[in-house]
Parts: sequence; structure tokens; C-alpha cells
Amino acid sequence: MRIDVAELLKRIGADAKVETEFKLSFDKDELEITKPISLKAKLVNTGEEILMTGKVKTTVKLPCCRCLKPCEVKVESELEERFKTEAGERIAEKLELEDRDFVSALSKGRYIELDEVLRQVLLTALPTKPLCNENCKGDETES
Ligand SMILES: [Zn+2]
Repeated sequence: MRIDVAELLKRIGADAKVETEFKLSFDKDELEITKPISLKAKLVNTGEEILMTGKVKTTVKLPCCRCLKPCEVKVESELEERFKTEAGERIAEKLELEDRDFVSALSKGRYIELDEVLRQVLLTALPTKPLCNENCKGDETES
């Protein structure tokens, strides 16, 4: 999934809203997504960067932390990502600034590549103790 920001790049201060749903899959051992990803975000051209803020939602399959059965868990996360524009890269070069943390470059100067960004965001947002249901007693043979 990528977002074309060519229009935004024409004017500093320009903004746009993105509201979309799309399917995405990752390595199943790491992150198994069972519903389309829903993304609501705002993009702003700050001159040096395209700032993206918003929310991402989806459902993933995880083993229940008590009974280990696979269960579907909703995952929702805030998003705040920055993508350096060409102007931003020139400024950084001129001032010999160190790359700031978590600023990615725009692909081909005009696209936001979302797959890797979303993978990181979702992995961070996964629940540490997923439950198939709140009353799960765990392995029934135990009691
Ligand atoms: Zn369970």
C-alpha cells in the first residue's frame, strides 16, 4: 500500500485526509491479519516533511495466552509518522544534520510506502495477553 503525495508536495502547508481500507499480509509467523486494515489519517506538508497522523485498526490472529487456541483480537493504534521531502533532505545535507529518528524518505520523491510502517505500528500495538474470551480458564485438562 502506498499513498501518492505529489499534490501535497506542490505547496507547503497543504493537507489531505486519507480514509481507506485495504488488505495487507505479512509473514504469518509474525503477524497474521484477518481483516482489512482501516486507516484514517491526515497528511500535512510542513516543508521539510510530510507529517502523517491518524489511526489504524485491524484484527489479528493470536494464540490465547491461557488456552493457546488461536483467537482474533482487535488492534487499534495511533499513528504518527514523518516522511522527509526532497527539500527536507537538502536541508539535512546542507546542515549536515544527523538523520532524526524514525524519519523515512519518500519513495521516488512522491510516495509514502505504508507496508513497513504499518507492520511496525501493529507489532508494537499487539496485546501482550490476548484472550479468546474474558472467561477463558485456560487448558481445561488442568482443572
Ligand atoms: Zn483461551
